Amino acid sequence: MPASTPADLLLVNGAVYTVDAARSWASAVAVKDGRVVAVGTDHDVREHLGPRTEVVDLRGGMLLPGFQDAHAHPAAAGVEMLQCDLHEAADAEECVAIIRAYAAAHPEAEWIVGGGWSMDAFRGGTPTKEVLDAIVPDRPVFLPNRDGHGAWVNSTALKVAGITRDTPDPSDGRIERDALGEPSGTLHEGAMSLVDDHAPEPTADDWAEGLAKAQAYLHSLGITAWQDAIVGGSYDTLDTYVAAAERGELTARVIGALWWDRHRGLEQIPELLDARARGRVGRFEATSVKIMVDGVCENFTAAVLEPYLDAEGRPTENRGIAFVGGEDLKLAVTHLDAEGFQVHFHALAERAVREALDAVEAARRVNGPNDHRHHLAHIQVVHPNDIPRFRRLGAVANAQALWAAHESQMDDLTIPFLGEPRWRWQYPFGSLLRAGVVLAMGSDWSVSSPDPLAQIHVAVNRVMPPDYPYTVDNREVFLPEERIDLATAIAGFTMGSAYVNHLDRLTGSIEVGKAADLTALDRNLFEHPLEEISQARVLLTMVEGARVFAAGNLA
Ligand SMILES: [Zn+2]
Repeated sequence: MPASTPADLLLVNGAVYTVDAARSWASAVAVKDGRVVAVGTDHDVREHLGPRTEVVDLRGGMLLPGFQDAHAHPAAAGVEMLQCDLHEAADAEECVAIIRAYAAAHPEAEWIVGGGWSMDAFRGGTPTKEVLDAIVPDRPVFLPNRDGHGAWVNSTALKVAGITRDTPDPSDGRIERDALGEPSGTLHEGAMSLVDDHAPEPTADDWAEGLAKAQAYLHSLGITAWQDAIVGGSYDTLDTYVAAAERGELTARVIGALWWDRHRGLEQIPELLDARARGRVGRFEATSVKIMVDGVCENFTAAVLEPYLDAEGRPTENRGIAFVGGEDLKLAVTHLDAEGFQVHFHALAERAVREALDAVEAARRVNGPNDHRHHLAHIQVVHPNDIPRFRRLGAVANAQALWAAHESQMDDLTIPFLGEPRWRWQYPFGSLLRAGVVLAMGSDWSVSSPDPLAQIHVAVNRVMPPDYPYTVDNREVFLPEERIDLATAIAGFTMGSAYVNHLDRLTGSIEVGKAADLTALDRNLFEHPLEEISQARVLLTMVEGARVFAAGNLA
């Protein structure tokens, strides 16, 4: 029987993993006007073959719904790719070589900015100004590390900012100092802005170029949608996204999480409402608000319930920093929830997670149930008592799975300072799933690689991928009971993240009527050893049936 309307495209001879509710498989998909019109066997879809239908032979490769990154900073990461980019540096020597080469190649730059160094490349995670002074003595250098919670600066930068031994630590950060109290060259959290406020901001052109670069890279990794975890504040990208969408250059679907200024209160809500109204163009929507509840463990700014331990294992006085907590957080979340915003929390350690859940609970009590799908990103340390609360409150666990493995940042800078039993509460993805929690997955790029296959690899194995660019000495499985199975990890990166992006009716699975946002791999992940997940390669990425990336035999 001939089809009434021939398809534009048939994808055949594949291992089509649909991620529908039944987790069903097929071998072929038909696409018409950007939508999936048939899913089935090669024979089933043949009725959609017309004279102008393009046929793509997947040659046994896997076809998946496009990956969605639930927490990333693509525009900023793209700008970093254009600056002094240290992400590929494996150690301190390579950082120095890159900075020296960049400074030499950019004699016109008044500042050396960029970043992406890894804390484990430097003793204590705190590089010193002397190293930079030796290679860039004349210009200020400001280089945030890859997690964005600390920055490496030289003496000129400290001078420009007026930071001396007499400068007190700001309330939301810390100036690293030597034994004599002199600023030593690393600034933590809020202390970064003492220098950053003087550094040149990326221009509108820089942001636009960065976004384009980032989008192309993410498409090459099979990503078709993401939630930009900071739009606003120092990442002034609302207009960047709107302009890209208006020009028709935003091929990805993007949810923007508008920045909650932690130094202000409810008076900023009208501005957020205005930004949401302006930020709804094409495939872009700014419907989420990002609240940074705490910092990170490695510099002891993540908010913990019991104090961190010192290097000798003795309790300190430090319980980290809650940038926004307690009643302030409850009030903010309740009002944002009432205005229809989704709240995207940065909630890293167990006190921050608890306070974020308390805030969602407060909002539920005042506003009643709704479908905003508030989510907690990072969830590095979760107190066991809080695990069942996610489901009760309808809160989504937004997991950065690449961090859930032994490597030096974990083994040397985290576990000893969390202590027993708390270090075992890290990245409890298995426990959350067993408690019925919706799991979304995201990279936090440029903090770490945005490659979904690398992240799925760690979610499943809890061991770093063999091709990870840094030396990993410890290949012991990290908390094996928290591993999740491959199907669940894939669902996290597709339907789970689509759910958090409110894109689950349109995307997230391969089903008739849904958008043809698709990713083809060179192999069926289920037919290869789990230790090889990260070795799979993306061959084709499509958004609404249009190719946004193609490689290998599908190029
Ligand atoms: Zn982030």
